[in-house]
Amino acid sequence: MWYRIPARLVKSSLDPQWREAPMSTVRERLKPHLLPQFCKGCGRCIESCTRHCISAGTEINAATGLIPVNLDLEQCNGCGLCISACPEPYGLRAEPGKDFVLEDPKALFGARRAASEVAPSIPDELLPLPAVEPLVVKGNYASAIGALIAGCRHFYGYPITPSTEGAELMAKLLPKLRGVFMQAVSETATVNMMYGCGGAGMKAMTFTSSPGFSLMLEGISYMIGAELPGVFVNVMRGGPGLGNIAPEQADIKLACRGLGHGNTQAVVLAPSTPQEMLDLTILAFDLSFRYRNPVVILSDGYLGQMTGTVRLPGTAVKPGLPSWAVSGDRAHRGNLICSFLLSEADLEAHNIHLNSKYAAMKAAEQRADLFETDDAEVLLVACNTPGRMAKGAVRELRARGIKAGLFRPISLWPFPIDALRPLLLRAHRIVVVEASNGQLEDEMRLAISHDSVPRPPAIASVRRFGGVLPQQKEIVDRVLEGVGAALVEGVRV
Ligand code: SF4
Ligand code: SF4
Repeated sequence: MWYRIPARLVKSSLDPQWREAPMSTVRERLKPHLLPQFCKGCGRCIESCTRHCISAGTEINAATGLIPVNLDLEQCNGCGLCISACPEPYGLRAEPGKDFVLEDPKALFGARRAASEVAPSIPDELLPLPAVEPLVVKGNYASAIGALIAGCRHFYGYPITPSTEGAELMAKLLPKLRGVFMQAVSETATVNMMYGCGGAGMKAMTFTSSPGFSLMLEGISYMIGAELPGVFVNVMRGGPGLGNIAPEQADIKLACRGLGHGNTQAVVLAPSTPQEMLDLTILAFDLSFRYRNPVVILSDGYLGQMTGTVRLPGTAVKPGLPSWAVSGDRAHRGNLICSFLLSEADLEAHNIHLNSKYAAMKAAEQRADLFETDDAEVLLVACNTPGRMAKGAVRELRARGIKAGLFRPISLWPFPIDALRPLLLRAHRIVVVEASNGQLEDEMRLAISHDSVPRPPAIASVRRFGGVLPQQKEIVDRVLEGVGAALVEGVRV
């Protein structure tokens, strides 16, 4: 229940009933009255009462989930110390009836909107873009341009190498597009600004890198809980800790399995070229609003800094306003955005709803790029910049007569098991190539395990760290080691 207390009744140490009333009257008037729905059970009133009239409560208040104190005023002398000690404006007050009125929110705001009476939605519009020559830009710039084309007009962020060029371009362009660029005081502030912007139904994004992304995780959990969109571009760098500013795929585990506390998942996209930085950023905004959920783009430091050719699409998005947004007009004012569900039954139902949304993402949002996989007997699995080295290795291995192919997951969550499954029937061996300690391999193994693939191929790996990327030669050498071993065992690889 929600109540509004008239402002004139807000408790204050300057309240005339305290300052001016004669002592005898004060004693009568200041006997405390507890409003349990406003008591948080902090116990300050218990400590303040020398007559031991107040004790810790034992029963949970159904409206708040907290345990209010108990009053036994037989020994009360009306000193008022407990009222003074109470930090809640309405927890303990003088006797009700004289100065306290609970108002019905229906009378104040009207009845709450029924589920069928949703606010209207203003759909996004597609506007034609003039044809231009392909751009030659860094991956970070390509992602920022993609965001603008997707209708993003709000950027919040804290600069961090190697992602800062994205923020830099947004700072230059957003004011010209009547957008908002805000350099926040920290990544924690950033994610909470994105929460607010997402709640208003606006398209918001940030650029960050691994240590900054770690700081955002609590807020991302809140956004997922409140079902809010937002695009997080994480240009990954070496870790743990501050690590360095060189490329690593250090946050696959974090993005796929650790988006803050609770039951959290988000689509995680892994570009491999500047063109994909642009294309996947546009896609990320679409998915983020389609599912009302954050979307993470995992780039890496090399890709963010790498320059490449980027073609722009023929249209750009003019953003609309979703029906669920909290906006200033009459129609949207009744919407409520919140991740706080005190009732156990309500929170369980919410999680079941989130799980059904995750299941829908798993079914519809798996993406992968397959290169020379039709007859592949050795399957390289790699994404981001290591995917480029792996592609070169496939070409070299094919030139040597080895049937190699590349499976490049573009969605790391959901892992594209539907595209991998048929390839496992032919492949004898998988080599996972990554700039991390097996985080991509773990995602793949988990997907294979959940899919109950019978007798999956043997799995080997090439792993580098700290900004040292797997090189084509060592990938080829690792595959050839397997070929040698297989020949000894009489298996064709
Ligand atoms: S008014 Fe004084 S005596 Fe009465 S409950 Fe409060 S602190 Fe105790
Ligand atoms: S001080 Fe106020 S909020 Fe704290 S336990 Fe007492 S009545 Fe409740």
